Amino acid sequence: MPRRRDSPPPQPAHPPTVTRRVLRLLEAQHPDAGTELTFRNAYELLTATILSAQCTDERVNQVTPSLFERYPTPAALAKATPEEIEPQIRPTGFFRTKSRSLVGMARTLVGHHGGEVPADLDALVRLPGVGRKTANVVLGHALGVPGLPVDRHVLRVANRLGIARSADPVVVERQLGAALPKPRWTLASDTLILHGRRICKPRPLCDRCGARKMCLYFADGGGTAPARGAGRSRRPTSSRKTPVP
Ligand code: SF4
Repeated sequence: MPRRRDSPPPQPAHPPTVTRRVLRLLEAQHPDAGTELTFRNAYELLTATILSAQCTDERVNQVTPSLFERYPTPAALAKATPEEIEPQIRPTGFFRTKSRSLVGMARTLVGHHGGEVPADLDALVRLPGVGRKTANVVLGHALGVPGLPVDRHVLRVANRLGIARSADPVVVERQLGAALPKPRWTLASDTLILHGRRICKPRPLCDRCGARKMCLYFADGGGTAPARGAGRSRRPTSSRKTPVP
C-alpha cells in the first residue's frame, strides 16, 4: 500500500497582512507592553524568568533584589547550594525545583559559557530550568536577539483572533514569526501577553478590545455576555478554532 502522506500543518485563518494590522491595533491599545520583571542584565532576567513560573512578576520582583545582592553574578550563584537558595525564593512557589534550576543554570553558565548568558536559543534551552519561552524572553529583552515567547496568554489570544491556529506553543511561535518581521517579535509577544491579562482573559472583555472587528472568536459569538446564571462564557463552535484554555 502507498504510504499515507502526513496532512499539512494547519494555517492561521488570517493572512500575514491582517496579523500585522491586528498587532498594530493592539500595540496602540497597550503602549506600555514590555516585561514587568525587574532586571539589569541577562543573568538577572534569566534568573527572574525562571522564578516567574507559576508566580506573578510582582512577587518575583519582591524577591530578586536581595537575591541579586547576595549572588550578583553566575559565578557567585554557582558556589551556592540549592538549600541555601530555598528560603530566599520560597515566596515564588515551587522553591525546591526552582533553587535546583537556578544553581544548575549558574554552574552550567560558569562551566560551559565563561560565566556569560549565551545569546543563542539552542544553548539557552540546554540550561537547567530553561524552556523555549524563557529563552525567548531573555533573548528578546536582554540580549538584543529577536525572540517570540509564547505563553498561555499568547496561545489563547492568538487563536481566538485567528492569527494563529494551534494548541502547540512552538507551532504558534512559528506561525506568528512567519507573519511578523523579526524586529517586531518581542513587542508582539509582550502585547499579546498584556492583552490576555487585561482584556482577552479566559472570559474576554470584548467590548474593550481594539481588535474586535478582526477577531474570529468575537465574530462567532464567543465574546457575547453569558446568560444569567451561566458559569462561563460561550466557547467557540467554529471548526476554524483550535481549543486553547
Ligand atoms: S474580541 Fe474578545 S475574544 Fe477577540 S481578541 Fe478581543 S477580547 Fe479576545
